[in-house]
Amino acid sequence: MSESLLKAENLTVRYGPVTALHDVSIEVNKGEIVALVGANGAGKSTLLKTLSGLLRPAAGTITYRDINLAKTPAHEIVQSGLVHVPEGRQVFPRFSMRDNLLAGSFTKNFHTAGKRADAVIAATPLLARRSGSLAGQLSGGEQQMLVIQRALMAEPDMIMLDEPSMGLSPVLADQVLELVSKLRDDGMTVLLVEQNALGALEIADRVYALATGEVLYSGTSAELKDDESFADQFLGVVTADAERLGDQLAESGDG
Ligand code: ATP
Repeated sequence: MSESLLKAENLTVRYGPVTALHDVSIEVNKGEIVALVGANGAGKSTLLKTLSGLLRPAAGTITYRDINLAKTPAHEIVQSGLVHVPEGRQVFPRFSMRDNLLAGSFTKNFHTAGKRADAVIAATPLLARRSGSLAGQLSGGEQQMLVIQRALMAEPDMIMLDEPSMGLSPVLADQVLELVSKLRDDGMTVLLVEQNALGALEIADRVYALATGEVLYSGTSAELKDDESFADQFLGVVTADAERLGDQLAESGDG
């Protein structure tokens, strides 16, 4: 039977008068990739920020293992093994790649961190070929790999990724999703926020679909792929955008 790692129940989160999440419940089991999909403003980032202690819920409970996260400071949540990679690839631009990685190991043994940072760079082809560069000089895809690896320096049991493929070329976006899939194969538990619902469904074990702060659908990727109403609402956006783009390219003669 699957072992529950994180359980959020009946969460309500507000920004002043704005209710961003209403009565949201999700569960992540050990070793799963769980995807959160939904349009802009659906509440995905708010949910991750609440789970990592950056926002506090107005109502509801969050349990990670047997820890009550709703009352735990963010840095202690990292120490307990749950890390959050926010959207926007926030590297320290004037630091080297290695120093960016070291910043991720603040909860761990600093003496061994240097060796681990070197090993991470050597084992990540996208980073190894730019190892002399400052983080601010890296491409979007390279920076995304760096921030994921920086989070892994904390040696987490579970990682939460907010839109890791956003703004990347299709090839790089695929590489990032491949890395996420490999992390799960190596035993990591992943909560993945993706607007590219189709890409997320390809690698996720289970999915929650959010709209205007509420969970509208949940199920295994296989179940939701077969659910026409889910596909219309959450996969249709991708299909319609791709069709529109195809039409535009054909009209401009580039397609
Ligand atoms: P995106 O993909 O655009 O990041 P999202 O699904 O992550 O969207 P959130 O960023 O969580 O959505 O936003 C959920 C709702 O909360 C939206 O209505 C948004 O406008 C509102 N919101 C988010 N941050 C704030 C804030 N700091 N102050 C007030 N309202 C906010």
